[in-house]
Amino acid sequence: MLKNLQLILLAVLVMVGVGCSSLPVSVGGSKEVVVLDIGHFIGGEGASTPGLVNGKRISECSFWYQYSYYVKKVVESAGYTCVVTNRGNAPTKEPLLSHARRAGVIHLKHPDKNAARYPSKYHPDRVASGMVSADYAIWRKASCIVFLHHNSSGGWTNGASPSMIICNKFNGKPLADTLARTLENEVLNHGMPNGGRGCSTVVRCVDADRAAGWLNACDDSGIPAAVIEAAFLNNRGHAAYLAVDANARKYAESIGHGIVRYMRSGALPQPRHIREDENKPDQGSFGYAAESRRLNVPGAKRLVH
Ligand SMILES: [Zn+2]
Repeated sequence: MLKNLQLILLAVLVMVGVGCSSLPVSVGGSKEVVVLDIGHFIGGEGASTPGLVNGKRISECSFWYQYSYYVKKVVESAGYTCVVTNRGNAPTKEPLLSHARRAGVIHLKHPDKNAARYPSKYHPDRVASGMVSADYAIWRKASCIVFLHHNSSGGWTNGASPSMIICNKFNGKPLADTLARTLENEVLNHGMPNGGRGCSTVVRCVDADRAAGWLNACDDSGIPAAVIEAAFLNNRGHAAYLAVDANARKYAESIGHGIVRYMRSGALPQPRHIREDENKPDQGSFGYAAESRRLNVPGAKRLVH
């Protein structure tokens, strides 16, 4: 009996060994890590469609819980390690619970009440709500991080949207450009109506009181970072497109294609720009602008008074 058990155990070990050796080999010998961050969390769902579209009310949070999986699959099938993060707590209700499990979402358990700001662990003059996701990417020494959002600004209900990718100043432009061109080639005006308009890229690095905080923290550590703001949930054409499952998958996969194209393009900043002096303030340092001078953020390093 014992001998049989040992044989079974041996057989299992051999099978596991064979399984491992058939895993995709990483590019360049080391597994490069891509982080995808679902930008909104339960209790802070972000923008949503004004009403039901195709029977669904889509929010930034619900959309990316469901479709980040398809971005991840594309990135993983190209041989990279891909991690999906969310700054909030894990969902307890369906369908988000199943979507989170399927995408393997890592919950960083930092749901910021009223968009409360706090400093980066690594670069404490960088202050923002949602900093925990940037800190995770820094800790993982990620090759890049893509924050998954939809643009929530108003006034675009019927017309074409100013689709854009926001990125960090020193390391993010090639990533943002590649994502924008890929979305233009595959989705914008190719299924998703956009009035013939393309997708612009915008550097955001000024003032610690804005989303620039997480982009700057990534930049300080040499990590290219981009925020997807290419589709509008309050744009009728975009919302109607994204409410169809096959289209939403196509949109998510297109972002995956953009990431893979970027990773393979050699467009990664070489050498990466890494902040030289943590005590030298810049426009994104805490205290730079009047808005952030007024703030009191415990633990933040105020480099400008
Ligand atoms: Zn958002």
